[in-house]
Amino acid sequence: MTRTLFISDLHLDPAVPAGIERFRQFAAEMAPGADALYILGDLFEMWIGDDAEDAASEAVIATLSGLAEAGTRCFLMPGNRDFLMGEALADACGAVLLDDPERIELAGRPCVLAHGDALCTADTAYMELRGTLRSPEVIADLLARPLAERAAIGADARRRSREAGENKPEHIMDVTPTEVDALLDARDADLLIHGHTHRAAVHHWRCRGRERTRVVLGDWGEMTRYAEVLDREVSLRTWP
Ligand code: MN
Repeated sequence: MTRTLFISDLHLDPAVPAGIERFRQFAAEMAPGADALYILGDLFEMWIGDDAEDAASEAVIATLSGLAEAGTRCFLMPGNRDFLMGEALADACGAVLLDDPERIELAGRPCVLAHGDALCTADTAYMELRGTLRSPEVIADLLARPLAERAAIGADARRRSREAGENKPEHIMDVTPTEVDALLDARDADLLIHGHTHRAAVHHWRCRGRERTRVVLGDWGEMTRYAEVLDREVSLRTWP
């Protein structure tokens, strides 16, 4: 029996030690014995580069490298808040850095993993911003700036986002169903697991005769949510 865990949208923040402690406890109680732990984006509230250190990054590195040593493979996917995470962080965690989207086999079943923001195509302003921010040139330019400047840029972006009310889940647009089917078609899979929208749910539908499933991981704001796949059975759970 294989047991695989998926989490996303923890938004770990050095200013909120209780959230970091909850992550440590979850990892200590739930992850041992699991074959793999996938973190599908927005692990951090903000990530200004792998060369920055704070209480959140220290806790994540210590926790994930401990899990990796104990035999749970750890996988990190960048989200929209922490898209600057890179190979140096993954190496320090003993984890594998994932692309967004990524296709994996779960107990022999093809599965597509994504953070989810790229599927929210109805938010055209955000999609345009995302296209700009994710260009290799912009990322290289950001990472070449001093840490203090990057922190100021990040704090400014976060403040403007808060003022626009975009941090509230109801203001995050949902995924576009046709984009979901197009992604699953392109990767020849019928199971998608993603986060970002904070709309925890398991959706089932049919597309041209194929049964499809979309698992939306919840955020860690009000409760600790995760998805567990036991062999081929997928379930969304809360902890404890
Ligand atoms: Mn997100």
